[in-house]
Order: sequence, then structure tokens, then C-alpha cells
Amino acid sequence: MSISAVIKKPFLQTILPSTGALTSTSVLRLDAVHEVVSGNKWYKLKNYITDAITLNKKNILTFGGAYSNHIVAAAAVCNANGLQSIGIIRGEEPRLLSHTLQQANNFGMQLFFVSREDYASKKIPANVFHFYSDEETCIIPEGGYGLPGMMGAMDILGENESSGYTHIIAAVGTGTMLAGLTNAAPPHQKIIGIPVPKNNASLSDGVKYLLPPEKQKNFELLHQFHFGGYAKYNHALITFMNEWYKQTGIPTDFVYTAKLFYAVNELRNQNYFGGGANVLVIHSGGLQGNNSLPKGTLIF
Ligand SMILES: *Cc1c(COP(=O)(O)O)cnc(C)c1O
Repeated sequence: MSISAVIKKPFLQTILPSTGALTSTSVLRLDAVHEVVSGNKWYKLKNYITDAITLNKKNILTFGGAYSNHIVAAAAVCNANGLQSIGIIRGEEPRLLSHTLQQANNFGMQLFFVSREDYASKKIPANVFHFYSDEETCIIPEGGYGLPGMMGAMDILGENESSGYTHIIAAVGTGTMLAGLTNAAPPHQKIIGIPVPKNNASLSDGVKYLLPPEKQKNFELLHQFHFGGYAKYNHALITFMNEWYKQTGIPTDFVYTAKLFYAVNELRNQNYFGGGANVLVIHSGGLQGNNSLPKGTLIF
């Protein structure tokens, strides 16, 4: 079975202009590719997994927090491909696993909890290699950050007709996806990233690091839509998510895509993109993250 056998094609959705904004806007619905291996996580993981299978590795080890889309996606992809997944999870083991970790565990991921300090240095606990052979284990950096992840993300544009757009806009965590979009885009397109970490000054360097020199200036980060930072939200964001769903039928997650679409909506209303703009918004998935919101918060 090919590693992509369970992956569906994303679809394109056009959204109508609101309040007289002129910008033509389409959304690439990567949230539709798989229920769990949502959105950009599939694209960022696929080269790592293919390499692991080619090299005859048995285990995949990767890192994430208790609500990490990357962790649960890695667990599901490994499960579908006969690989053992190992998750190094930030922070103490909770009495009750988060929905995300429970689901990862259901896909067979073995979880190891490490202190925030050890997590920050990406130290692998010694006992991991009592259970799993070092040589048979392939390590994927947090969030799939790295060249294989970036190259997989290039296919988001490569596999979907995208040359007619003037702007491409996407949410940013590690910047791996944005680097892939930037690398794949022709020079006439503007690539815009909406970072969800708060004022993370090293983010831009992280994106550049994954790009060839001639492309390192071809993207822009707009830092004013983080809502307080990673996984932070307020009433205005939740209201927007519900309103946006009513208007467009597009579900968003409060960690990444709600902030992205909030930004898109604001920028459209300010006519930021200019006349004749044809904007492609990348819906990068992540909807499972909404499970950590109190029940009844969202209408979808
Ligand atoms: C992980 C994730 C991102 C961020 O991707 P990076 O490549 O780390 O920048 C954006 N949106 C969603 C829904 C995600 O799960």
C-alpha cells in the first residue's frame, strides 16, 4: 500500500466578497485530505515517512505538546504504514490525557513525557532506547521542521493548480509550510505568513534557513494577528469563528486557521491586497484542536 492511499485530494472553495471588498479569494481546503492527518501535516510528514520506509526503519520518534496536530498526525500516518510511533511530549504526564494525546495513543503511539527544560533542548529520555533500537528509529523534528518537511509542503502548490493567484496566504507555526509555499511559488506571487507564536523574531530566520538564497526574500510575515500567541484566544476570535462559519461554511481551528481567516477578512476589508488581486488562502487543517475548547463554544 502506498503511504498516500488514505489521503484524499483537497478541494478549492471560492468565498464571496464581503462589505464591498474587491478581492477575489479562494480557499484550498487541505482540511479535507484526511480526518486526522489533517492539512499541512500530511504534506510535511510524507517525505520523512517515505525515507523511513525506504531505509527499513521500524520506528518514528517525534516531539510535540499535549495538543499538537503534528503528534496525532504522525501517530496516524505511522499506524497506516506499519511503523511504531514514539512521541516525546512536553511537560509532566497529566492524570487525564488530552483528546489529542489519547487519540495518538489509540493509534499506537508510545508517549514519553519530559520536563519543559529537557523538551526545550529536545533531549530524548534514556529509557526510550531501552525499548526501541536506536538504529531502527527515524527522528522527525518538532512540527516536521526541516528540508524533507519543506519539500513535502512544496507539493501543496505543485499538486494543485495555483499559478493564477497574485497572493498566497497561510498560517505559520514553525514556518516549514511557508518555506515550502515560498519555494514552490513563481516570482510574481506574494507569499504572506500569519504567525501564531507571539512576536517570535527568529521565525523569519527559520523560514529563510529552509530556502535557497534567491528565494529568501520572497515571503512576508504579518505579526499583528496572533491573539496573544500560540493557542491563545479571546471572545472576539471565537465570535469570528462562528460568524465565518455561518457566512462561508468554512470551519476553522482556534490555534491556527481562525487567526489566518481573521487576518484575511481584515486585510480584505482594508483592501490590503489591492485591485485585481486573486488571493489563495491555505486552509491547513488542524480542526481536532477545537476538542480542547469547552463544549458549546463553537456552532460547528
Ligand atoms: C502545524 C500547523 C500549522 C503550522 O505549520 P508550520 O509548517 O509549522 O508553520 C498551520 N496550520 C495548522 C492547522 C497546523 O496544524
